[in-house]
Amino acid sequence: MSSRRKIVAGNWKMNLDRAQARSLAEAVAKRSPEAGTADLVLCPPAVYLDAVATAVADSPVALGGQTVHDKTNGAFTGEVAPPMLVDLGCRYVIVGHSERRTLFGETDAIVNAKAKAALAAGLTPIVCVGETLEEREAGRTGDVVTAQVRGSLAGLPPADVAGLVIAYEPVWAIGTGRVATPQQAQEVHELIRRVVGAVTSPDVAGRVRIQYGGSVKPDNAADLAAQPDIDGALVGGASLKADDFLGIAAAFGR
Ligand code: PEP
Repeated sequence: MSSRRKIVAGNWKMNLDRAQARSLAEAVAKRSPEAGTADLVLCPPAVYLDAVATAVADSPVALGGQTVHDKTNGAFTGEVAPPMLVDLGCRYVIVGHSERRTLFGETDAIVNAKAKAALAAGLTPIVCVGETLEEREAGRTGDVVTAQVRGSLAGLPPADVAGLVIAYEPVWAIGTGRVATPQQAQEVHELIRRVVGAVTSPDVAGRVRIQYGGSVKPDNAADLAAQPDIDGALVGGASLKADDFLGIAAAFGR
């Protein structure tokens, strides 16, 4: 059992309305002791961050953005700057989610710039990496994930890498109901930790937290949580129901 504190984050994506966001956040906040020792993070749509911040105030539930721009201000219509997320009470921000990479053209260089900007503002980035089905079937998972980790973390001070979160999310498992087996996930998590060690130090590799994401549900969370290098989950669909989200968190927090 590692000394790394488990972390379970809910990525609500572009779902819910304001009232639903508020009531889901209130339910998670109220029932947060069910997560045991796991850290909880909610990442609502940006327009509901304020409402969710109010709902989770006075609870251990942390707030996170789903993406962020890499500049602190300026003529970037529609974008949200890192200090703005901080202003709303965010402690975390997801960067490089596969939907951002594939639908919005985010490269490792862009993800790297966003991670640096987030850290400069005092946010903890949740840096997402993961291979497509085609890449896995071609036997390229290791190469793809290694390049993403190296590119996304390039130039970051080791102390910053130690404090951030990496989410391994195989693209073929996101929103598909097809979860990686605990062994498949563990194998890539171990690789990611090795790559982090190579670009920083063994000490940093031992401290960085690596979440698994991709169709995590309460009934598959315990097997994932039992793996030595899986330090939590980044949860999409199942984070929209308090019962499911807390069920997953409980599996990691016991
Ligand atoms: C995600 O989008 O980060 C995710 C893991 O989604 P889901 O849990 O729905 O597969």
